[in-house]
Amino acid sequence: MYIDGEWRPADGTGTISVVDPATEMEFARVPAGTPVDVDAAVRAARAALPGWAATPPAERGARIAALRDALKAQEAEAARIVTSELGAPPGFSKAVHVALPLRVLTSYAELAASHAFEEKLGNSTVFQEPVGVVGAITPWNYPLHQAVAKVAPALAAGCTVVLKPAENTPLTARVLAAAAHDAGLPAGVFNVVTGLGPVAGQALAAHEGVDMVSFTGSTAVGRDIGASAGAAVKRVALELGGKSANVILPGADLARAVNVGVAQLMANSGQTCHAWSRMLVHADEYDEAVALAEAAAAKYADRVGPLVSARQRDRVRGYIDQGVAEGARLVTGGSDAPRSPGYYVSPTVFADVTPDMTIAQEEIFGPVLAILRYRDEDDALRIANATVYGLGGGVWAGDEAEAVAFARRMDTGQIDINGGRFNPLAPFGGYKQSGVGRELGPHGLAEYLQTKSLQF
Ligand code: NAD
Repeated sequence: MYIDGEWRPADGTGTISVVDPATEMEFARVPAGTPVDVDAAVRAARAALPGWAATPPAERGARIAALRDALKAQEAEAARIVTSELGAPPGFSKAVHVALPLRVLTSYAELAASHAFEEKLGNSTVFQEPVGVVGAITPWNYPLHQAVAKVAPALAAGCTVVLKPAENTPLTARVLAAAAHDAGLPAGVFNVVTGLGPVAGQALAAHEGVDMVSFTGSTAVGRDIGASAGAAVKRVALELGGKSANVILPGADLARAVNVGVAQLMANSGQTCHAWSRMLVHADEYDEAVALAEAAAAKYADRVGPLVSARQRDRVRGYIDQGVAEGARLVTGGSDAPRSPGYYVSPTVFADVTPDMTIAQEEIFGPVLAILRYRDEDDALRIANATVYGLGGGVWAGDEAEAVAFARRMDTGQIDINGGRFNPLAPFGGYKQSGVGRELGPHGLAEYLQTKSLQF
């Protein structure tokens, strides 16, 4: 465990096996943290809080820049570890899994220095102060990014952090801890405890020394964490599941919209929370779009990595079988294992999907696309909004203003217009059951701040 600026033996003897999804072989073990480890980490974070909170924001920014540089120095190793524990193809690990957190760290190094932590409102001065000790609980799908998306803004705000990474991908968090150590972050400001969700995660979320829980993961666990945070009157941020729609309006560049949409979904083997797992196409263009999607998916046959675990693979296969059973038309792919060993699932496209089908409603978290048909824009909007989720989405139209008008009516937190590029400053987070709160950029920083007003 990385606690109070040093690597310490764990309290218990339990371990977690880390398996390479491409080979199905265990290649590492990490300690399964107990509530005693969590308690030690929270105490270290509490002890470090006054000093870090009082550190001038520009100096905190400089430490975050040093963390970025230390991580950058380990870039190749970090990418190799993401590939080993998650199964992401090496190019994607480097270009996205590691490059993205480096950009996010840069953005917070700058935001810490430039943010106005103090403002005048009439006869008051309002100070933005750190929330306190943050318990960060992250999922496996973008292991380094999910951790950095919490740790960087929390540190910028002046909070101290205890991170509990996902069981499947704990090694990346250790790379981050090593980088924090190399960067000379003061002891206790950033701590890592590996462990099981219902044990170490639960102990962290419930610890009375934790002022805020920032959780990314499934809606089921998020609901419980939100409930216990509510009972303790604790700040909570929840980044949960999604079932995002890629809406292609008449007049859009159909081939581009379909190709970019399929690429967005297939990236990370479909294990992206805001993956465009539903494609909505006008009835007049439907057959053409299905043919384009089939051809686009075929290009990914040898390119998608395995899913993270046997459990995840079996879950995705189950959804594919259910899609067939509920009457959707399997255009390409299917639930048969495309190769072995490895937890692979073929890129799969379903047509003739109706909004009430399970594969149109539930988050699959695999390389499975559902193409739905709409009659007119109102019908498209109704279908797009007809899930419990609202995390991401895409809108394509010939006219940008038309795409914007449609996007404004969608119940979702982040939408790419005609293939808009990723922006690390844009707030990311969900409407409806996709979550509470926002990550990244100044909005992500605000999550970790509370205000104090002085009247004169
Ligand atoms: P998960 O909810 O099972 O686990 C997430 C984290 O919570 C892990 O670290 C786990 O150990 C921990 N955990 C599990 N049970 C816990 C408990 N009782 N108390 C405290 N912590 C506990 O989710 P997962 O399967 O790892 O991740 C996949 C899910 O995450 C998907 O639903 C996906 O959409 C979602 N996700 C959302 C976003 C987003 O930004 N909205 C990003 C990535 C992933």
